[in-house]
Amino acid sequence: MTKPITRAEAEVFELFHESVFVRDMQGQIHFWNSASETLYEWSSQLAVGSNARALLQCQGTGRPEAADAKLLADGHWRGELCRTTASGGRRDVNVRWSLRRDASGAPVGIIETSHDISAAKEIERRLIDSEYRYRNLFQAMAASFWELDFTKVGAKLRVLLDSGVEDLETYFQDHPEVVREYLRDTRVIDLNDHSVRLFGRGNREEMLGSVDPYWPDASIQVYARCIVKSLARHPNNIEVTRLQTLDGRELECLFTACFSKENMARGIILIGIIDLSEQVAARQALEVMQTELAHAARISILGELTASITHEINQPLGAISAYAEAGLRWLRRPDPDLKEVEMALQSIVSEAKRTDDVITRVRNMAVRRAPAECVIPINDVIRESLQFTRHQLQKHRVRVELELASSLPDIKADRVLIQQVMVNLVMNAVQAMALKENAGRELFIQTTHLLDGKIAVHIVDSGPGISEDHLERLFESFFTTKATGMGMGLPICRSIIEAAGGEIKLANRSDGQQGADIVLTLPEATADCLMGGGNSV
Ligand code: ADP
Repeated sequence: MTKPITRAEAEVFELFHESVFVRDMQGQIHFWNSASETLYEWSSQLAVGSNARALLQCQGTGRPEAADAKLLADGHWRGELCRTTASGGRRDVNVRWSLRRDASGAPVGIIETSHDISAAKEIERRLIDSEYRYRNLFQAMAASFWELDFTKVGAKLRVLLDSGVEDLETYFQDHPEVVREYLRDTRVIDLNDHSVRLFGRGNREEMLGSVDPYWPDASIQVYARCIVKSLARHPNNIEVTRLQTLDGRELECLFTACFSKENMARGIILIGIIDLSEQVAARQALEVMQTELAHAARISILGELTASITHEINQPLGAISAYAEAGLRWLRRPDPDLKEVEMALQSIVSEAKRTDDVITRVRNMAVRRAPAECVIPINDVIRESLQFTRHQLQKHRVRVELELASSLPDIKADRVLIQQVMVNLVMNAVQAMALKENAGRELFIQTTHLLDGKIAVHIVDSGPGISEDHLERLFESFFTTKATGMGMGLPICRSIIEAAGGEIKLANRSDGQQGADIVLTLPEATADCLMGGGNSV
């Protein structure tokens, strides 16, 4: 039988850096060079005489029979195999087989050359793995992800910048039609299933086009800011905005665009969108509930103040009837004194105005309406709140001292709600002081303009103060130490003050005297609010 390899050939193959081995048609190895020893970890001594297939045990799904058939038909075969080494390791190899024939053309053996591609294969596997993971993430997240082709916009931007436009943000504000054009030029290359569910009509292909249909006019500056930020090499842009679906619904969403260097070099921007509609609806429902709660609490305060209100109305009413009787008497005289009658009538008008003021104040408090922020002078609100509580203060013989800073900036808040807070805090102070029999009752209210621009309001009383165990719990709903208390006053005060961007703190006096010291800090109305034209009446 003809040997598949000659001695001379073996000597040449020994010089190869690649693995070369020769086997006969039954698979028995006749030659095994030293590069094969290194690659497969089998010595030539052990390999020669062994069956190649048994020695190298192919792994994976490749079908060696198919390779054999091709080899016999064409005389050669090349491909990739995954084999096992002597120590059980795995080697990915790129293999070439060529068929040797004898003089009559009958196949006598196969020469195989192979080299190690394990490292490259490992990288490929990792890439596939990471691509798979990325795909999974891309698809499985309950967020909408889009891959956008930005190349056309990039080219137009270069032309725009070359034409001398420097302040892009202002330029885009002045030229919304250019932003619109760029939106038309930005194309969706890929998007996940969630995006199709959120924005589309179930058809993914329909969405692989321009991003323009998803941007209502009111939101296009968000896109313009993305462009500006990407050019300024910001890594991303995050904003809450409104986008629209293909069937015309508007969604409130958190929009993020990511401008990684690698993607930007390829003209690609990634965007992520989280639908906030449910959260927005929940927040709105919560706001309605808070408004209703605040309203209920106001009504309850008015309930507590009924006696004072009645007293406040009765006083001018009494005066009115006294002036009316006096007027009548002047009229009934044989010689009516019209001057006196006129004076009595004028007094009636001004007393009626007093009654009207009280009624208007109570009605404003009692009416249920959504909060309306205005620019308001806090000192005036404090004085108004003291009018509400005047009778209570008098009844409990509380001496009130005001130290209201002049030229304080205004705050931006709902006037009635801040009044409600002040009335609540003053009433709490009066009720606390009423617990101290016969003691001097003093309420000190001070406003100051702090160095950081905020406004501080101190409400200091001479009551018993707050016990240490209670300090932590004062803002808990329904926490009360009063027999008929509801425990909702302070939690509502806090939510009102925080909604106005401020803070409320309750502590005991720090001047060594007994009593509570409540501080409200509120931000001053910014130039924006002032221009926005809140009313300050
Ligand atoms: P309520 O007045 O219905 O009790 P609040 O939430 O207004 O509800 O007050 C909760 C508790 O805080 C009061 O019951 C009282 O114990 C305490 N508190 C509030 N203000 C003062 C104060 N000025 N001095 C002492 N304790 C106070």
